[in-house]
Amino acid sequence: MRNDRPQPGRRDASQSASAGASFHEMWRELLPLGRHPDSGGYRRYAWTAADTECRAWFKQQAEARGLAYEVDRNGNQWAWLGDPAEGNAVVTGSHLDSVPDGGAFDGPLGVVSSFAALDELRARGVTFARPLAIVNFGDEEGARFGLACVGSRLTGGRLTVEQAHLLTDGDGVTLPRAMEAAGYDPDAIGPDPERLARIGAFVELHVEQGRALDLSGDRVGIASAIWPHGRWRFDFRGEANHAGTTRLVDRRDPMLPYAETVLAARREARLAGAVATFGKIAVEPNGVNAIPSLVRGWLDSRAADQEALDTVVAGIEEAARAHAREHGVDLDIVRESFTPVVEFDHALRDELARILGKGTDLGDTGLKVPVLGTGAGHDAGILSGRIPTAMLFVRNPTGVSHSPAEFAEEDDCVAGVLALADVLEGLAAGDR
Ligand SMILES: [Zn+2]
Repeated sequence: MRNDRPQPGRRDASQSASAGASFHEMWRELLPLGRHPDSGGYRRYAWTAADTECRAWFKQQAEARGLAYEVDRNGNQWAWLGDPAEGNAVVTGSHLDSVPDGGAFDGPLGVVSSFAALDELRARGVTFARPLAIVNFGDEEGARFGLACVGSRLTGGRLTVEQAHLLTDGDGVTLPRAMEAAGYDPDAIGPDPERLARIGAFVELHVEQGRALDLSGDRVGIASAIWPHGRWRFDFRGEANHAGTTRLVDRRDPMLPYAETVLAARREARLAGAVATFGKIAVEPNGVNAIPSLVRGWLDSRAADQEALDTVVAGIEEAARAHAREHGVDLDIVRESFTPVVEFDHALRDELARILGKGTDLGDTGLKVPVLGTGAGHDAGILSGRIPTAMLFVRNPTGVSHSPAEFAEEDDCVAGVLALADVLEGLAAGDR
């Protein structure tokens, strides 16, 4: 049995059967789409057949609720209640794409909860003084083209059209060609300031990618900040040769400094209380009996603040250069992407805390809804420099994410829906 603290929200799950029922029905429909039969994980990569199925599901949900459906110039999907031209809209949503063999919750939990929260508000008879929208941002995970949050970056002007045209997947297909193949017009992509100007607040609900809520005994939390994070490519170039006939002393084997660099990354991250991961590697010629000519490794590193991150990455680079020299190997390091620390809008965050604390036994301000930082990037973070954004996290009992083992309890998911419904009602409801 969990020892749960009093939970945010005015209604508990038993009082809101409608939210639970609509959540579960949508969840069941979405669950098989893009799931790989062998791994049980999801392969919902941007602009692939699996992504197209998920997008069709989104459109169907919008239309079933009589919402005005549209796709913006960057392929993000929107479902509107009320007239977007009125401005000051309250927007919620997340993404439906996945990392390779990702879990069911990262992204889809936010989109499904958004529709379920709207159903809950309609069941409550809430009318809205502000336009409301649900969004599915395209290509959030960056699994196919190597850059995360492409849909929101383009919309927010954080990725230029020229840069977007250069994005290429592992098969040599560029982003524009991939969008075109999926039936979208790649010539339209670009910044969308008019759209952002209509949004007064964006709230993204997401499964927690860590165990803070599990440890505190809370179902739902509010985000404070996203750690600064980036991706660096390390190219170690040596000399290919025969694995059987080349004496050890004659080798220029790039695998050795690469291996030392992986260990250095672990050490530097531990010392700084940060994280650093080499999770992807490419080897040439990639033969069992050949000394490699090239080892290319990608570093992902994140820390609570910029200074700590700079220290970690500088330490790893220094170790990589020293070990490359030692083994007669050339090294190039390229920073492929970087996102500075994101502090979510304080006023909106406090408003969420106020709404979720209201009407509980602890009184209007008595409930302390936990406020957490996170090492994971999100569309809400990308857009935070342009519009007020906030995030809600739903408890993840193991903290596992980006894996088929990613999980949230059904009751916690419904608690998330109700918390999101309370937030949307608090932000957007008109007089009743
Ligand atoms: Zn996500």
